[in-house]
Amino acid sequence: MELNNYSYTNINLTKELNIVVRSCLNVTQDSDGNVLDNSRIIESSKLIKELGGRVNRVVILAHLGRPSEYSKEFSFVNVVKELEGEVNKGVNDKFSITLVNTLEELENLVNQNARGIYLLENIRFNNDEESSDLNIRSEFGKRLSKLGDIFINDSFADYRESASNYDIAKNMQSYLGPVFINEINNLNKLKNPSTPYIAILGGAKLSEKIDILNSLLDTCDKVLIGGAMSYTILKAKGINVGNSLIEEDKIDVAVEILNKYSDKLVLPLDHLVSNEFNEESPYQYINEVNISENRVAIDIGWETIKLFRDEILKANTILWNGPMGVFEWEHSSVGTVEIAKAIVNNVNAYKVVGGGDSITALNKFNILGFDHISTGGGAMIKYLSGDEFKTLEVILNQHNK
Ligand code: AMP
Repeated sequence: MELNNYSYTNINLTKELNIVVRSCLNVTQDSDGNVLDNSRIIESSKLIKELGGRVNRVVILAHLGRPSEYSKEFSFVNVVKELEGEVNKGVNDKFSITLVNTLEELENLVNQNARGIYLLENIRFNNDEESSDLNIRSEFGKRLSKLGDIFINDSFADYRESASNYDIAKNMQSYLGPVFINEINNLNKLKNPSTPYIAILGGAKLSEKIDILNSLLDTCDKVLIGGAMSYTILKAKGINVGNSLIEEDKIDVAVEILNKYSDKLVLPLDHLVSNEFNEESPYQYINEVNISENRVAIDIGWETIKLFRDEILKANTILWNGPMGVFEWEHSSVGTVEIAKAIVNNVNAYKVVGGGDSITALNKFNILGFDHISTGGGAMIKYLSGDEFKTLEVILNQHNK
């Protein structure tokens, strides 16, 4: 897919132009409101930096968390400072970014044709943004479209349709921003991969990854599965999983997957188990696949690490999403860390990672070397599953008319 026609670079930037940008500023903060991982802010700052000073006004729309009403915890008060800091790094003419608390205040500024860069407070403080009544959502999108002349969607990660990333685009001339384009270009490389192509999936829930798993099993040479989601599949195979976290209602689906793709699935052979699901509980490695009744698996074992490592070393294209165990605890982070290290040690392969937990693990253990780090785990899965990606389609359709 050639995205040049849809790129923001086609916009003729003039001093009269007013631009509305949908950015991804959905970061995690600690209880004092300090931003813990600012990678999304850094990515989003690139477009704002390019636009600042070259147009009359930039209005930034974005969300933080899942608030249903105003709450300090989900305010952009700290995010705006970080964003301003990033936008101003290495530039002589500094820009200030003004946080505007309400849409009404922003509309007043727009009516006065105010100049500058404005970030609207968390768009999700407005319930219409994600209203299940599509008329309400659409009306809200129309209202947002009055904030400028041109819309740029630079938030690949927010793929679920809402007023500020979908309905707005129906009401104004719209383009894709650099973060969005970079994601699509990199993920498209996985649609025509150099083989062997392997995927490594982990994390808690098989239910959330069934579509991607099926689609990857169709396209990949091998799919390696670790983390809690592997225990539902092991159980479906008739293996004892003790008290490990499983999804009983997904055993049937797991049986179907096993019947269809047993030659491509690579599952854990051994485990790190604990007496209880609790960081302080005693733990031990077991050298067999069956887990006794009163034990919980919390990480993959060393035979599994070796098996996965061998597959990783043979691959030319590698996609990773989801931790191999409870990586938040030191003793059960080993599987995730060893697998991440094995991936980056395969210097010749094209390597992509996505998903908040996988990226947190890379940052925490300082593992570098991926070719592409996706800003959106869920969005990456959605895009690679081949499902309709509506926030992209709405912009492509507009230009293809
Ligand atoms: P997800 O959001 O589905 O990618 O899942 C990530 C979470 O899965 C992390 O918080 C991990 O601690 C958790 N996880 C991974 N392996 C296990 C396991 N064996 N038992 C329980 N939780 C796990």
